[in-house]
Amino acid sequence: DIGDARRPGSTTCPYCGVGCGVRVTLDGDTISAVAGEERHPANQGRLCVKGSALHETLGQSGRLLEPRVDGHTVGWGTALDQVASRLRAIQNAHGPASVAGYLSGQLLTEDYYVANKLFKGFLGTPHLDTNSRLCMASAVAAYKRSFGADAVPCCYEDLEQAELVVLAGSNLAWNHPVLYQRLKAAKARNPLMRVVVIDPRVTDSCDIADLYLGIAPGSDARLFNGLLAFMQRTHRVDHTYLARHTEGFEETLDAVFEDDTTLEAIAAECDLDTERLETFYYWFATHLHVVTLYSQGINQSSSGTDKCQAIINCHLAGGKLGLPGAGPFSITGQPNAMGGREVGGLANQLAAHMDYHTPGAIERVSAFWQSDALPTAPGYKAIELFDAIERGEILAVWIMATNPVVSLPDAARIKRLLAECPLVIVSECMANAEILDVADIVLPATGWSEKDGTVTNSERCISRQRGLLPAPGEARHDWQIMTDVACRLGFAEAFDYAHPAEIFDEHARLSGLDNDRAHGDWRVFDISGLGGLDREAYDALAPIRWPVNAAHPEGTDRLFADGRFPTASGRARLLPVRPQAPQQALSASRPLRLNTGRVRDQWHTMTRTARSARLMNHRAEPFVELHPEDAAVAGIQEGRLVALTGAGGQYLGRARLKRGQRRGEAFVPMHWNNAFSGRARANVLIAPIVDAISGQPESKHGAVGVQPL
Ligand code: SF4
Repeated sequence: DIGDARRPGSTTCPYCGVGCGVRVTLDGDTISAVAGEERHPANQGRLCVKGSALHETLGQSGRLLEPRVDGHTVGWGTALDQVASRLRAIQNAHGPASVAGYLSGQLLTEDYYVANKLFKGFLGTPHLDTNSRLCMASAVAAYKRSFGADAVPCCYEDLEQAELVVLAGSNLAWNHPVLYQRLKAAKARNPLMRVVVIDPRVTDSCDIADLYLGIAPGSDARLFNGLLAFMQRTHRVDHTYLARHTEGFEETLDAVFEDDTTLEAIAAECDLDTERLETFYYWFATHLHVVTLYSQGINQSSSGTDKCQAIINCHLAGGKLGLPGAGPFSITGQPNAMGGREVGGLANQLAAHMDYHTPGAIERVSAFWQSDALPTAPGYKAIELFDAIERGEILAVWIMATNPVVSLPDAARIKRLLAECPLVIVSECMANAEILDVADIVLPATGWSEKDGTVTNSERCISRQRGLLPAPGEARHDWQIMTDVACRLGFAEAFDYAHPAEIFDEHARLSGLDNDRAHGDWRVFDISGLGGLDREAYDALAPIRWPVNAAHPEGTDRLFADGRFPTASGRARLLPVRPQAPQQALSASRPLRLNTGRVRDQWHTMTRTARSARLMNHRAEPFVELHPEDAAVAGIQEGRLVALTGAGGQYLGRARLKRGQRRGEAFVPMHWNNAFSGRARANVLIAPIVDAISGQPESKHGAVGVQPL
């Protein structure tokens, strides 16, 4: 009956973490047009170019339509039997932890919930991680250290209500375009609003900047430590807020003053003009309503957690948090990175924002799931997980809705080690996804516009994605596929789901279990107020920001307004940050610092967006952006084909010479791969070096050499 759930109406965009509402026009079994959903709080009728081309990326051609086992097309019964029997055989021979799952921020929350329950709760392996690790694991780790919870304190209205918006490591104009549109409109309405852009590259986001800081890559922690020192020296620290609501300020400040904190010293280290630096510091220190919006430029670093922490420290020290238009605001890359974390989809999480070490969590979740198979300690984070496959410690991996042979650092090695792995199961929508090259069992999955469920965007807003079209071919929903495998493994009672509404209800009830704020033992993520929705109510669910519970039945716009945090002391923590340089070392043969990122009109590994001709028109081929003087030294002219050589291979692209590119640095898009251009996988250039706390790879700080072809 789910495949027949065709109804006109609204759904949610499947691309970036803004999470825009989309209205579709149905024309039989096709979507003939899309428009921004006026009633959705994220976009209020707007769409970016990717969202407005959604209907151009649909259709049966190019889709995976049938299951395959060992290269042969089979029926679902055979495919599911093979998945269950091979997983069971490997676990029987090598133990529960010999199997792993690798998920995606593209999955819906209901899919994620079933996966987490199956792998951790019933297969008993802790090794379930997700490509959210590449996206905002560092931001999560810093929020948890400081606030006691993976809880984004702000909402999108804060961008419009701020006096000062700082974009740090975020090209909002390209990567979260509707938020950029909202910010631009707010700035036009309020000429007193100021915008600061901190980014090594001059990007389109600079169009609305009152101040641009072209920072040296990797020096962000130094910049924000220097800001804290400036606030202290100029008596702009809010000691009342610190005394009432925080701990750790003195130790944090001591660490800051271990370095030279003069403007001149910081400007030299960050490669900035001293006057501009002072202007930024003065603006931040003298305004209360400040939002610092940060993204992958901060997170994708071997010290990403500390960089996020340095930002949070400045907000706490100034009491710039829990107020309209104020807070440290991490913006996620993917549509459901947050929903995946809500269910516990990261390897260091257990379930429903409970970690393994959360007191009573293992017993609580075991009892709720009625399983005694739960692991007792965290599993491997993404890079560690694939290392364990290479060592032969993990012998089976089920990869869903993601393409790690393109997106993980040292991508060529990832492909090689997966080719050697005894069992690779891949659930996927598209027939040209490169991950299929290494799959033993291929399971065709439904995609956007075909599946029903929920996603959570960057402001904690839960929205419905709706099934509007029938599934193509034999494709099935991810939660159904896993449920059917669970039944074959003997777990039928625990996976007796007939509709995603039932999964959402279970997820909502678990989130509120034993959540006792009155006695100080509480979790911010609590959507127990959404438990018990029947199918009709679930289908009609309007966007709502969590927590949603008895205390907040209408949801919650902004967190920590009362200054209480879910830490042991009830206070937020400032933590000392000691700045560190990027770990991928430059050398004579690799003298350029490599930055990787998105282009405006493509999404991830292009399996969907490349189907739209107008999206391809924006950047039709892989490229390398270089400063003209670096290009001249290497004998490279505009438009010339060049080769970059990095940690794990070579990347070919066409030179684009830009004065907005810093000298000594190169930028390449992360999207292209063997399906489109066999020699342009950006991640072969990146070494698998990660942040020690978050496990997030250092994707913004490669080291490469460049030669003309
Ligand atoms: Fe989709 Fe993001 Fe564009 Fe909104 S801003 S339409 S969520 S890609």
